[in-house]
Amino acid sequence: MLSRCGRRLLHVLGLSFPLLTRRPLFLFPHRFMKPQVVFVLGGPGAGKGTQCARIVEGTLKNLFSNTTIRKHQFFGAQLSLWSSVSHHKYGYTHLSAGELLRDERKNPDSQYGELIEKYIKDGKIVPVEITISLLRREMDQTMAANAQKNKFLIDGFPRNQDNLQGWNKTMDGKADVSFVLFFDCNNEICIERCLERGKSSGRSDDNRESLEKRIQTYLQSTKPIIDLYEEMGKVKKIDASKSVDEVFDEVVKIFDKEG
Ligand code: ADP
Ligand code: AMP
Repeated sequence: MLSRCGRRLLHVLGLSFPLLTRRPLFLFPHRFMKPQVVFVLGGPGAGKGTQCARIVEGTLKNLFSNTTIRKHQFFGAQLSLWSSVSHHKYGYTHLSAGELLRDERKNPDSQYGELIEKYIKDGKIVPVEITISLLRREMDQTMAANAQKNKFLIDGFPRNQDNLQGWNKTMDGKADVSFVLFFDCNNEICIERCLERGKSSGRSDDNRESLEKRIQTYLQSTKPIIDLYEEMGKVKKIDASKSVDEVFDEVVKIFDKEG
């Protein structure tokens, strides 16, 4: 038997024994961590990818303009920097459904490559089984590599009723959806941003014809899913038509509160 002091030390080190199993947590770490998910939704070009990257990385501008840092500056430069980093690193992993599908399309061994390309070019939503299997694989691999990394920003999902049903069926009890981060942006601004992005993105769907279809898909299929979560009180809505920094300031307020 471990002494009280020994147990306390293990606890502090994060190696405490679960009461029921009496097996050390560190032997089976990711068995105990359920993925905590934030769905990130909005029209094409609303800035989902841009803001998710900032949530994951933090930015110097926002780190140093934060009030927490000013409060801690009395304690010296080292501590103020440390507290700002820990304050703004929310510990999320960004998974973009669109990126995962584009990567899968590029994989020569994938049986779904051609099918994915056709759906993406037409601005249509790829069958849910493919998207969920890619998301699950990424979540499993991330947590297997580091059991603490169980917080995910899932960007561009669920995009329609089929996505939502597929998620509920496959992930029921296996992941918690904390909330939906909704980047609300006017369609014309969205199209202009994507056309600008299209000059360098090399994406087959950043052209006006695909974009008109993607906006229609968004309005007809994705917006009703956002409305559904809204009715459940799970939506955090942000005005995404403002500048990247202004939008991120709003994002920070939400994550400071929700974690
Ligand atoms: P999404 O992931 O929602 O499709 P992105 O994050 O890729 O959108 O943004 C689309 C384009 O618009 C990118 O070229 C990005 O640099 C630009 N962008 C993103 N957010 C803003 C913003 N708030 N103001 C101006 N341009 C933006
Ligand atoms: P995005 O990168 O989010 O703009 O998505 C680009 C394209 O990928 C979309 O127009 C769809 O064709 C496809 N796609 C993205 N997310 C999903 C999803 N959740 N379900 C099915 N298809 C998706």
